[in-house]
Parts: sequence; structure tokens; C-alpha cells
Amino acid sequence: MKYEAVIGLEIHAQLLTDTKIFCGCSTSFGREPNTQTCPVCIGMPGVLPVLNRKAVEFAIMAGLAMNCKIAPYSRFARKNYFYPDLPKGYQISQYELPICQQGYLDIEVDGVRRRVGITRIHMEEDAGKNIHEKDSSLVDLNRAGVPLLEIVTEPDIRTPREAAVFMRKLRTILRYLGICDGNMEQGSLRCDANVSVRPEGSEGFGTKTEIKNINSFRFVEKALEYEINRQIKLISQGESVVQETRLWDSSAGKTYSMRSKEEAHDYRYFPEPDLVPLEIPREWVDEIKGRLPELPDEKKTRFIKEYSLPEYDAEVLTEERTVAEWFEEAVRLGGNPKKVSNWMMTELLRLLNEHEKEITDIPLTPSHLVKILDLIEKGTISGTIGKKVFSEVFLTGKDPEVVVKEKGLLQITDTSELEKMVDEVLKNNSKEVERYKKGETKLLGFFVGQVMKASRGKANPKIVNELLKQKLSES
Ligand SMILES: [Zn+2]
Repeated sequence: MKYEAVIGLEIHAQLLTDTKIFCGCSTSFGREPNTQTCPVCIGMPGVLPVLNRKAVEFAIMAGLAMNCKIAPYSRFARKNYFYPDLPKGYQISQYELPICQQGYLDIEVDGVRRRVGITRIHMEEDAGKNIHEKDSSLVDLNRAGVPLLEIVTEPDIRTPREAAVFMRKLRTILRYLGICDGNMEQGSLRCDANVSVRPEGSEGFGTKTEIKNINSFRFVEKALEYEINRQIKLISQGESVVQETRLWDSSAGKTYSMRSKEEAHDYRYFPEPDLVPLEIPREWVDEIKGRLPELPDEKKTRFIKEYSLPEYDAEVLTEERTVAEWFEEAVRLGGNPKKVSNWMMTELLRLLNEHEKEITDIPLTPSHLVKILDLIEKGTISGTIGKKVFSEVFLTGKDPEVVVKEKGLLQITDTSELEKMVDEVLKNNSKEVERYKKGETKLLGFFVGQVMKASRGKANPKIVNELLKQKLSES
């Protein structure tokens, strides 16, 4: 029997507002514990929450970007449970009337397009953080009251890979909108997954388990793979899956049971009496819609059309808004789109990765890249030297021409100097010369490579090519 998985995700995204959702405390990360707090967010009796308008605006932006209906009337609800990091004894969330509903996102996996339904997006406040030490536990309430979006998908996802692609796409969109930094390590984007299995092609649903606290894209895939295999094995052995919440242990590569359905909370939701229902005028939604940035899918389509880029290039360049803007700036300054794209996708992304930098924190500018391309085009430097110059400018921000002069990287175009090198290479590789003359003409590339190596990348490859062809056809 073949099985297929049915996966739904619940994603928590921390919003990038300056202040918390129901008070004026700062949301900045990494401050001294309990310094970003006030009577409202530490849950003192008698205080009243006041809704942060920016958080609502961000929720509307997310809803529009994910094709949701924005509810003209929604309501906050109390989710009651006791935990040391939740001093009020309840979390203010939304329950039966969330702000956004019935949206979708399209994803593409191995060339196949799939639509994943978004059931709802609602706003809520984050809890604080418990820090467990050897003999004691401490509570930091700096995070208590930071605004969150909870994004819930329909059970439309079928494979761990699709789940990971969906998460990436969601993160890209949130970052484009500038409403969440998407940092999974710091917990500003967190994912829970509901998963069950059923015989392939059947319609019903099997018993599902929920995997909590998955904190990287890689773990989304791994945790789901493990859990799907675990469930299939149970069912194949005639046993049944127990409905429960499981945790992913990344070091063991396993999920383990956290609590069963019997132990599950009854949150006793009821409408939050301290906040009026949220009424959102249509004009406000339209106004927000009017200033949404171009989203990744639209940008990708435009890049393909406007710059004749291959789909792959357009996909890579539009994954981050800042990278896409860097590309467009280089093209605007006269760079050839495909050349700019090649350099960005290979050299630039490699260096950013290597130095763990964002494109916004480097001294290298689009204008530098255009200058380097120009120097190569004019034959002042070779492509290989261009890469060296690029790495240098990446670190120092120096003018490419200055780097070329300082490092003595000018291209060798003097024919007599190049001829000496060519002769030397032919002399040292007499066997290859013979083979070439017997018709193995593809060895030309080998000779060019040897000359380039001898000149430490400075020889003009065009002249070297001509000289080699000439010399090899002579004697
Ligand atoms: Zn506060």
C-alpha cells in the first residue's frame, strides 16, 4: 500500500513594530531582561490594553499579500492558560473572528505549481521567555506583548519539500513587506506542523499529530520526513497513530511525544472585554493595498520579461527585495542585465555567504560592479582578474580602477610578451602539441589555460588564443 501525507502549517511571525501590541514598550531584541516592560505587559491588575494601529496595518498587509479577505469586523479573544511566562494568565489572541481569512499562496516544486490555502491569519501577543538555569528558573518579560501574526494553512501540503518551499516563500513575502525579519534562529518566525498519512488517492484524513517548535527550514523538512515515516510504519504494522503533540529533537533527528489529546488544554476562549471589536473601513484596506510593494512573484515575472533573464536567474535575484533592488540599480547604471545577474549569482552571493553578510552591509555598490564589467569589456583586465578586483572591492569599497593600479593587475596585451609565454607553454607540453596536431583540437583550451596560469590571469585571452592557433598551425 502506498501512503501520502497531509500537512498543514501554523506559523508565528513576530511583527517589526517599534512598540508592543497593547502598550508603548519597545520591542527591541536582546536587551537586559525585564527592562522593556510596563504594568500592561507584565499583567498588573486594573490596567487596560490599547491596540497598536501599526500591528493592525501589518496584519492587513500580510492578508492582502496572501490573497485573503480582510474582515471588516473582527474581535480579540482571551486564550486562558497558566504558565510562568504569561503573567496575566491569558493571552490576548483572536478566535472565531480573525482579521484575515480564505487566502492562498502558490508554490512551485520541481516545476509543478500548487496552491496552498490560507485558512486564517490572526493577531496575538507573544508570551515572555523562561530561562532555566541549574538550580532555578528565571522569567524575562521583554518579549511579553510583542505582536505576532499566526498564519494557518489548509491541509493542502503533501510533501516535506513542499512544506519547506512554502515556508521560504512566506518568509520572502513577509520580508518584502518589511513586517517581519524572518529570523528563525532568533525565533521571529516559528513553525508548527500538523501531519497525518492516508492511502494514496483516498479522500479522508488519518489521525494527525502536531509537531511544535521547528526552528529552521532544514528541520521543517527533516521533522516531517521523520514523522511521516513513523506514522506509515505504525499503520503498516496494524497499529494506530495517537493524536498528540510532539516535539522535534534536532540533535537526535526524531520527534517525541510532548502531550496527548487527553492532556491538551481547554483554553476557554471568550471575547476580550477590555478591547472594542475591530472595525476596519474599506478605504483603509484600499489605501494599504495601493502602497503594497511589488511582491516576489510579480517581480520575478517582470524580471524575465523586462531583462530577458532566464527563470532561474529571476527566481534567485528576487528572493530578497534588497538583492533585486541592487540588481536593478546596476542595470540602471548601464550594466548588461545577464552579465550583472551572472556576477551577482556567482561572485556576490558566494561572498555574502562566505562572510555572512547582507547585501545592505557591504561597501561594494552596483556602480562598482558596472565599472568592473566595463574594465573587462574594454580589455583593461581579464575576467579572472575581474573576480579578484570584485573580491577586493567587496571588502574595501575601493574604486575598481584604483585596485587594478595598486595591485598591478592590468591585462598583458603586449604581443611580444605574450608570445614568449606561449612559446614557453608549447615547449613544456610537447606531448599535447603532438596530440593537437593529430587532430585533438579541443586541447586549445588546455594551452590557453596554461598561458593564463603562467601570467597569473593577466594575459589577454583573445590574443593568447590567436597566438596559439597561429603557432600550432605553423610547424
Ligand atoms: Zn509594556
